[in-house]
Amino acid sequence: MQYEINDQEVRSRLTDEQYFVTQHAGTERAFTGCYWDTKEEGKYHCIVCDAELFVSDTKFDSGTGWPSFFESAGTDSVIRKVDNSYGMTRIEALCAKCGAHLGHIFNDGPPPTGERYCMNSASLKLKPLDGQT
Ligand code: FE
Repeated sequence: MQYEINDQEVRSRLTDEQYFVTQHAGTERAFTGCYWDTKEEGKYHCIVCDAELFVSDTKFDSGTGWPSFFESAGTDSVIRKVDNSYGMTRIEALCAKCGAHLGHIFNDGPPPTGERYCMNSASLKLKPLDGQT
C-alpha cells in the first residue's frame, strides 16, 4: 500500500461507522448512508486516503440502498480480493492506495461493464463538481 495506515490517527478523524466499514470490512445498513440516492455530479474519493475512486457519471440506481457504480475511476484505483466470509464467495473491493474496505463487486450491473460496485457511503467522500465539499 502506498498509504500507511495509522490506526489511532484514522480512528480519531473518522466517525465510528466510517472506521468500522473501512478498517473492519463492515457494511452500513441499506438506505442509511449519505450517498445511496445522491445524483450530484462530482468525484467520489476514499474517506481514508483521499484517492479518487469513482466518478458520478458511472453511478446508477441499483435499488439496493447502497451507492452503486458500473466502473471505478481509472483502472487501478480499486483492487479486488476474494472474500469467503458469511458462507458466501464474493469479490471484495478495496482502495488500492490504502486498503480501505469499500464494498463488494457483483456481475449483475448494467452496460457497458455488467458490473455493480456495491459501495458503502461510509467509505466515500463526494467532491462535487462545483468545488464545494
Ligand atoms: Fe484509500
